Amino acid sequence: MSEPIRVTVWNEFRHEQNHQAVKDLYPEGIHGTIKSCLEKQLGQNVLVRTATLDEPEHGLTDEVLEQTDVMTWWGHCAHGEVSDAIVDKVQKRVLQGMGLLVLHSGHYSKIFKRLMGTTCSLRWREQGERELIWNVNPGHPITDGLTDEHFELTDTEMYGEMFDIPAPDEQIFISWFEGGEVFRSGCTWTRGKGRIFYFRPGHETFPIYYNENVQRVIANGVKWANQNSSAPYRLNAPNITPSLAPIAGEYEVDASLHEH
Ligand code: ZN
Repeated sequence: MSEPIRVTVWNEFRHEQNHQAVKDLYPEGIHGTIKSCLEKQLGQNVLVRTATLDEPEHGLTDEVLEQTDVMTWWGHCAHGEVSDAIVDKVQKRVLQGMGLLVLHSGHYSKIFKRLMGTTCSLRWREQGERELIWNVNPGHPITDGLTDEHFELTDTEMYGEMFDIPAPDEQIFISWFEGGEVFRSGCTWTRGKGRIFYFRPGHETFPIYYNENVQRVIANGVKWANQNSSAPYRLNAPNITPSLAPIAGEYEVDASLHEH
């Protein structure tokens, strides 16, 4: 059996403590629900830990980051409280090959905006409405196991275009909302060696993360983002002069995760 994917589920974890309705819906926190989802969907193929904003270093110590193959990110009301130093470290790990799943309101997280380089803004409406999520990439591993061309969420927060992101490498889902808006609900990018998947569903006052299709897509996303290329990758830009290193192979390339 191959090594399990080491996943760190990161959650801001504020609404679940401050709002009773959210606490009732996600008694173990959204991170607890996503952890259970991954364990249910992927079994022994995954090793999941959680980390939250109010832990020291937001739960993302160097050791945790080095031991993370894929991270999932959920934040909403406290994006600004995430330390820039931690964002730097998470970005660096993505460039080095750590997968990142950005969920729902994580579109406005510092790490997602950093990786995209755009505002990542969108339009929204929180009244609970019907959403159809269309699979526009049925050959993609992230859509594996979906049994229809679309799936439905009956009560959702609307996210609509224009979603200010760079053109995705791959479009996976497009949503339609009752109010008429559409949205690019599933998108992928690569930054450095890291694979990034943005997946829209998941407002804190709706039981979205208990939905079977949503859970399947998140689990598929974790598997997809766990790329294992051992090819060397540099974070720095060495000045290699011909007299010192004439041809590739003459100098050592440090492919380890430590670049201090
Ligand atoms: Zn929301």
